[in-house]
Amino acid sequence: LGYGALTLRRTPVDLRELVGQVRADLARLIADHPIEVDIPRDLPPLDADAVLIGQAMVNIVENATKYAPPQSPIRIAGWAVDGSVFVAVSDQGPGIPPEDAERVFDLFYRVRHGDGQPAGTGLGLSIVRGLVEAHGGTVRAVPGTDGRGTTIELALPAAKPEVEPEDTAEAEPEESK
Ligand code: ATP
Ligand code: MG
Repeated sequence: LGYGALTLRRTPVDLRELVGQVRADLARLIADHPIEVDIPRDLPPLDADAVLIGQAMVNIVENATKYAPPQSPIRIAGWAVDGSVFVAVSDQGPGIPPEDAERVFDLFYRVRHGDGQPAGTGLGLSIVRGLVEAHGGTVRAVPGTDGRGTTIELALPAAKPEVEPEDTAEAEPEESK
């Protein structure tokens, strides 16, 4: 996929608000799943295009609803390390075999989960990777905590904290000669 024409409109994006938007967009799909959100109130905002990262989140959460059994919980967590904000979406579905953990980001690649697996084109996660990398971020699939299910983990740049106006020249008047 060529992302050369992609223009990012970066603003400080509050992850808790973004998750609320994603939940509203997917209201019908997530109705069958308890959603646990674990994002601290003081998490720094992302430096991101809210629409594009929202689309990436939609693709990831949609997969969780599609591959994990009805009524199984989906957890959305956020935390910050240095200048990055991490976002993890975890489900308790069949998991992604370790040998497929990189390939699921390839165009059209689908894991064989057996008979009756949900329909799909194998594009969702390749688009996620393209959008996240366009932001200078990374995405990976990791086995779920406690060995069950899947976690898709994003690392994205945090917005730089704004300089408070009182920190500027006026606070300390320069000595005149
Ligand atoms: P599309 O998203 O284009 O409708 P898709 O869901 O098959 O189709 P991707 O979202 O790119 O495509 O996912 C690629 C493959 O990775 C899926 O076919 C599925 O095998 C596997 N996969 C993705 N997310 C999960 C998940 N949460 N649990 C188990 N397997 C998953
Ligand atoms: Mg998908």
